[in-house]
Amino acid sequence: MTSQQPIKEPSFRESVDMMFNRAVALMDLSPGLEEKIRVCNATYTVRFGVRLRGAIHTFTGYRSVHSEHMEPVKGGIRFAMAVNQDEVEALAALMTYKCALVEAPFGGSKGGLRINPGDWDDHEMELITRRFAYELIKRDLINPAQNVPAPDMGTGEREMAWIADQYKRMNTTDINGAACVTGKPPNAGGIAGRVEATGRGVQYALQEFFRHPEDIAVAGLSGKLEGKRIIVQGLGNVGYHAAKFLSDEDGALITGVIERDGALHNEKGIDVEAVRAWIVKHGGVSGFPDASHRADGATLLEAECDILIPAALEGVINMENAPRIEAPLIIEAANGPVTAGADEILRDKGCVIIPDMYANAGGVTVSYFEWVKNLSHIRFGRMQRRQEEARHQLVVDELERLSSDKGLGWSLSPNFKEKYLRGADELELVRSGLDDTMRAAYQAMREVWHSRDDVHDLRTAAYLVSIRKVADSYRAKGL
Ligand code: GLU
Repeated sequence: MTSQQPIKEPSFRESVDMMFNRAVALMDLSPGLEEKIRVCNATYTVRFGVRLRGAIHTFTGYRSVHSEHMEPVKGGIRFAMAVNQDEVEALAALMTYKCALVEAPFGGSKGGLRINPGDWDDHEMELITRRFAYELIKRDLINPAQNVPAPDMGTGEREMAWIADQYKRMNTTDINGAACVTGKPPNAGGIAGRVEATGRGVQYALQEFFRHPEDIAVAGLSGKLEGKRIIVQGLGNVGYHAAKFLSDEDGALITGVIERDGALHNEKGIDVEAVRAWIVKHGGVSGFPDASHRADGATLLEAECDILIPAALEGVINMENAPRIEAPLIIEAANGPVTAGADEILRDKGCVIIPDMYANAGGVTVSYFEWVKNLSHIRFGRMQRRQEEARHQLVVDELERLSSDKGLGWSLSPNFKEKYLRGADELELVRSGLDDTMRAAYQAMREVWHSRDDVHDLRTAAYLVSIRKVADSYRAKGL
């Protein structure tokens, strides 16, 4: 192809559909069921006005429901100027497949509001968010039994708390009101570990990948996660937590950070916490002292590294730059960072891609735990923790008694005692549930990847696992 020819890239939704089609062609679903699963059930568009600064401002928002094979449907609400119907529908479809893959018992949905949150102060954001929530709540597009939003790009605990409060004001007798949205702050019905969950899930996904030497070899890598050179794009909630955990706990080196105002590069490793603090203080990465800076940040996606983590926007690895991507392993922390065309180019190059619907499923997994917590009205571990500690104490006391009675001279190390005696709190339980989920889903994907001659990549394997589950539940309903 000459450089003059324009590269025709499909839209985000078309890209998701193309990946779906590639997988479904390997299945034996009836064409009717195939179509039913692929299409987005409904997208609601709302335009509402809010009086701000003495004038009425009109905002456009969406809530798209992709599949209701299970209810409630689940998926975040994004606040960004780039929000549009195609994007929301693509993201809703990914939620369907994501939830099925990690066995979170939800259908797929997604919402978005066209807004630049930076243009408005806190109070104005509250008015706008509450008004958007009102429009969705009155149509049951926010409801604990039907549709449960969560944070996404541009939203977080603060917006979720407003949405939950708005729902409760409009449904004063709904005892399960707190379960109408997840990602709430801990003091408003949230769960420990939700903020870190997506980044934590990326870490657990990589840990699981590196437990399989066969898979590591497919990527042309060897050894452990420790010492691997990682470039991360986007130091937002997901990218920041993933990079921090991978460097602090697994000994990986963050050699590159790509942000809006350019990229940082240092082969010796970059201190993620220091960069985050720099961004908070200076509004960007430029000027950060301990790394080289380049203004054209996207070019760092093409730099040599062991693992590339796109954790920002969709479509950043596309047909234009894919031929130049050097990373042998990409883990999609963002939704849709690799277009369908780029996916094909990278696959041909032998690059292993750990797909978005699996890689970033940590968020919705912990959202599921939060929803269950809200419906059960009790914090995880509240009943068992002290009982567990008491039983462990019995064992420790008995060991120590045996040692002194028999004159064995054993002594339990203080570190062991402290760790063994402590009953699990909510955060530990959440991390354990998330780790288990990420391991099981990876194993389901790799089983398909390695057992079928016609499946050459993890993304196709992920689609096969999840479409099978969605199809089974439609069939069970008699569809
Ligand atoms: N917005 C996140 C995602 O894309 C979380 C969704 C949720 O927790 O419902 O997966």
